[in-house]
Amino acid sequence: MNGTSPSPGTKLPPKLTRPTLPPRKYWPWFVFILLVNYLLMSYLFPPGDAPVTVPYTVFREEAGKNNVSAIYSRGTTIEGRFRAPVTWPTPEDIKQAGPTSARSAIDRRLLPPARTSSHFETELPTFFDRDLEPFLIQHNVEISAVPIQQASAWATLLYGFGPAVLIIAFYVWMYRRAAAQGGMGGMGGVFGIGRSKARRYDTETADRITFNDVAGIDEAESELVEIVDFLKAPGKYTRLGGSAPKGVLLIGSPGTGKTLLAKAVAGEAGVPFFSMSAAEFVEMIVGVGAARVRDLFKQARESAPAIIFIDEIDAIGRARGGMMMGGGHSEQEQTLQQILTEMDGFSGREGIIVLAATNQPDVLDRALLRPGRFDRRVVVNLPDKVGREAIVRVHVRKVPLDPDVNLEELAQATPGFSGADLKNLVNEAALLAARRSEDAVHHKDFLDALEKIVLGPERPLLLGPEDRERIAYHESGHAVLGLLVPGADPVHRVSIVPRGQALGVTYQRPQTDRYNYPEAYLRARIIGMLGGRAAEEVVYGTRTTGAENDIEQATQLARNMVTRWGMSDAVGMVQLAPAHNPYLGGPSGYMGEKPFSEQTGNLIDAEVQRIINECHEEAKRLLREHRAALDALVAALLKQETVSEQEILQATGLPSAPLLEGRPVRG
Ligand code: ADP
Ligand code: ZN
Repeated sequence: MNGTSPSPGTKLPPKLTRPTLPPRKYWPWFVFILLVNYLLMSYLFPPGDAPVTVPYTVFREEAGKNNVSAIYSRGTTIEGRFRAPVTWPTPEDIKQAGPTSARSAIDRRLLPPARTSSHFETELPTFFDRDLEPFLIQHNVEISAVPIQQASAWATLLYGFGPAVLIIAFYVWMYRRAAAQGGMGGMGGVFGIGRSKARRYDTETADRITFNDVAGIDEAESELVEIVDFLKAPGKYTRLGGSAPKGVLLIGSPGTGKTLLAKAVAGEAGVPFFSMSAAEFVEMIVGVGAARVRDLFKQARESAPAIIFIDEIDAIGRARGGMMMGGGHSEQEQTLQQILTEMDGFSGREGIIVLAATNQPDVLDRALLRPGRFDRRVVVNLPDKVGREAIVRVHVRKVPLDPDVNLEELAQATPGFSGADLKNLVNEAALLAARRSEDAVHHKDFLDALEKIVLGPERPLLLGPEDRERIAYHESGHAVLGLLVPGADPVHRVSIVPRGQALGVTYQRPQTDRYNYPEAYLRARIIGMLGGRAAEEVVYGTRTTGAENDIEQATQLARNMVTRWGMSDAVGMVQLAPAHNPYLGGPSGYMGEKPFSEQTGNLIDAEVQRIINECHEEAKRLLREHRAALDALVAALLKQETVSEQEILQATGLPSAPLLEGRPVRG
């Protein structure tokens, strides 16, 4: 495996995408109903008041002691109340049924567990006791024809009608939900189904978020300063008849801080912030989304000036008429339409600004982007090295750091990390330091946390010596080529400790953030990727499945060279790849027909194969030539499992890879 340095697309692939959970709006209702049922039942039938079943003799005995207040008889069953609670069976009863004889053991097993209650039940013997009635009257027992326990009537009712009531309640509920679409707007449904569920953050509190908490995305930040100004003093802008901005679209990969920016704008301006994810608008029942939009804007208008933040607007703002799945179509359209209507509806004087976030700006409906709607676009990029350092500084404010921590080095080691990733890194490091009972977070904690995040946690996996050796050769193949091929990224660490999906890892990362990749660098990457398999072939002469991931990555890269970057003479400088979405990482796949002929398709395949084969041959040639270095690194790996950059250079006796020549060609 060799998958840890970012692949050279024009942008780095997104690291941690956060999946949205399916709507969980139904389970609170089930829990609620269950709870009501439970409370009701336990109120009507307190668990302690269940009747204790006593033998007839015990009943007569207690009646004789004037301890029975009332009875109710139903056939041969008598139910009643003792004046003072009675425990049955008594400890003596249990003792009497002592363990000595087989007979009594059976009796004992027949005795129920002892219980105490003033509510009892007993069976009349079939030889009916004729003296019972006068005996009871004599002992002041009230004989009643009404059940003693009123609750049992309730129980009958509940058992009989409960399910029906529940079903009716459910229908009423469904009806109210459906009614929400009928224009009842914010009031939709007694249970508030048509309400927006927006989260409101008030910004007067002490822990409000300001631009102080945002770092490393200065361009985006400065574009939003004007919005803050406007919210603070709307009059200043509209004085001369100009209309204020209404909508701003924040574009960027997940975790780059779009939500954070929106909150900071609200915090700086001191206005309330209403936040909702577009996915939450869309319900199964048509019309609910629109009702929620109405309610959201109503709430905001009531506390204007205010900010409305709609996350993942692409979930409803997708171009209409495009490919859409299932029946959500018209619901989506209605919800979108409602947002547009609301935005057209306010004049811009109310002081409401809608910020929306997306990572797929190109799928958005054009109607959303028209002037007067989301006409401002702010791109939130992944931070560069300086930005990453600044973001880490924001997040370590409350973390005690050991003086040995080098944040600049950390920033350098995290190309492609978003703000959210960096926050996570700081958190992991702090947890790790706490687990190690340190008083402050050390640099090593950061490095170990980084390794865990990038490579996955270690996986306990017992490998036989042959497998271990083979993996060591595979990884060493990657690493040695990382030292030999000019322009290759420096090799920082090689390990044969299984982690996540990988059996071993070669950790390479670029010296600086790269935005423009020379062809020779890309070839160096491919040669390095194929180095694992090449080493196995050179040493063992056989192949394993272990190179699947390497092959996939190398093929992708070679294909991009041919179809996107014009690096094949045979194909030429023609754009043959599907349109690229820079905020989603890799290419987005062909939609419908491929934009080239079958001949060209064959040519692309041939060129990709040519590049891969050339690189493969080069990898094998270099490894054969430096077999001694390869063997030495394998020996070090088998001994230590993980070797650092310094140890790699020492073991192989090779210098770091030479830099690429970049001087202009003259002549
Ligand atoms: P997005 O909305 O773009 O997906 P978020 O704003 O939700 O990303 O970011 C998640 C968290 O990551 C934030 O709450 C913040 O703590 C941290 N974060 C992201 N970007 C930055 C940044 N530029 N500066 C400081 N913290 C950041
Ligand atoms: Zn590999």
